[in-house]
Amino acid sequence: MERKNFDLAVIGSGPGGYVAAIKAAQMGMNVCLIEKGLLGGCCLNVGCIPTKTLLANASLMQKLSHASDYGINVGSYTFDYAKMKQRKDAVVAQIRKSLEGLLLSNGMTILRGQAEFLSPREIKVKGQDNVIVYAEKTIIATGSEPLDIPAFPCDHQRVLNSTSILELTSLPKTLAIIGGGYIGCEFASLFVELGVKVVILEMLPSIIMLQGKSVAEALTRAFTKKGIEIRTGVTVEGIDHLQNGLSVRLKGNPAVACDMALVSVGRKIISADVGLDKAGVAVTEKGLIPVNDKMETNVPGIYAIGDVTGKYMLAHVASHQGVIAAANAGGQAAKMHYEAVPAVIFTTPEIATVGMTLEQAQEAGYNAAVGKFPFQALGKSVASIETEGFAQVIVDRKTGQILGAQVVGHEASTLIAEMGLAIANELTVESVMETIHAHPTVAESWLEAALLANDTPIHFPPRIKK
Ligand SMILES: Cc1cc2nc3c(=O)[nH]c(=O)nc-3n(C[C@H](O)[C@H](O)[C@H](O)COP(=O)(O)OP(=O)(O)OC[C@H]3O[C@@H](n4cnc5c(N)ncnc54)[C@H](O)[C@@H]3O)c2cc1C
Repeated sequence: MERKNFDLAVIGSGPGGYVAAIKAAQMGMNVCLIEKGLLGGCCLNVGCIPTKTLLANASLMQKLSHASDYGINVGSYTFDYAKMKQRKDAVVAQIRKSLEGLLLSNGMTILRGQAEFLSPREIKVKGQDNVIVYAEKTIIATGSEPLDIPAFPCDHQRVLNSTSILELTSLPKTLAIIGGGYIGCEFASLFVELGVKVVILEMLPSIIMLQGKSVAEALTRAFTKKGIEIRTGVTVEGIDHLQNGLSVRLKGNPAVACDMALVSVGRKIISADVGLDKAGVAVTEKGLIPVNDKMETNVPGIYAIGDVTGKYMLAHVASHQGVIAAANAGGQAAKMHYEAVPAVIFTTPEIATVGMTLEQAQEAGYNAAVGKFPFQALGKSVASIETEGFAQVIVDRKTGQILGAQVVGHEASTLIAEMGLAIANELTVESVMETIHAHPTVAESWLEAALLANDTPIHFPPRIKK
């Protein structure tokens, strides 16, 4: 096999790997990016981008259904799901093409094939390209894939996972979603807007448990209002295939009948076929690669980033880790910080969080104040008929430092950036109160939430009436 030398090899071209490769190339390193599948990884091809493209359709459907509230009569309308899927495929293909151009413009070599370590410095690439790579440094960014459950395996016809559900060209009448985490909830939001009867089956006491109580309760209320059935505290034991549908068996409860089921119960780490043992890279029982805050593995010169490290399993975290790993591989000293990681759930209403929830702040021993401002009290939200939800800040009463923020509602995904900046820079509630926010905008909700946390509200009645 041909041998090629590089300063840095990056395995996997998802948002972790490709960003790391660009950063390293910009630092003057001779870089190769190795990909066995499609450029862009899970995020671009079967994750963030295709789901948000389909959700844009759902969002328009939702607006259309309320058009008369704005004085617009649209009459009757229909939709073509096959066309929606086609648009999704076209968006993904367009971005993938741009990504390839971007990578090549940075002067790196793209190698297409499965990468497997032969030793800490040698990687065999097998596939479209067949080559032995010798690299001084390597960044592993091999990501994750949907977890299959042996008790109810996906047949990808009627029992689907988050990848195969994206290939549907027509919709089921009824869909059972097993798992009420963010991926399950986004699909629930998509399909309910398109008229599918959705039931979420969640083992835990609530959907999106990790986002904190107030956010989980708000989404549960909104979903229930839309007609999504949410069944919490239920365990799926198996799925029976019937002639005209499925029967989802629940432990100690009657079975749920549906046309299709989506299994969204977690992700499996991709680290088994990478030859990590030959490189001496340690993995946990679950296949995760442990790293320190410089993204270094136990082997000098080998870094790991993104889902394979199991830290946050979000695209923007993978990218940031990629920048840190590349900087360290290039001789700089950079460290990862996780205090201000924003997370967005693109449901209707949107959910966005950063930093600590109230429960986490209290557990950490803070005397925390909450400033919660409802969009019902905000001019821009009332004007746009987007009054559902709230913006909330969690503040340390002692120092005024902002510890966390949560938003439920329209534009939550954009709004959260301001609080990300505040938390990353350890800003206080005073700094938000002293910042002039344009009027009328939904961003004013931060000013109002900060004033509420400080017990000095302006556009909200005082807690103690004068
Ligand atoms: C339905 C869904 C929706 C999502 N939505 C969001 C969202 O809105 N926002 C968000 O932040 N995150 C979202 N995510 C999560 C996000 O997609 C992942 O966190 C992100 O893609 C992880 O990036 P990564 O670079 O670690 O790995 P990946 O994107 O998984 O990329 C890994 C790449 O490595 C390649 N690879 C693996 N092994 C080898 C090998 N041996 N040789 C060569 N190549 C290899 C794979 O083919 C793949 O292309 C979503 C995920 C899903 C499933």
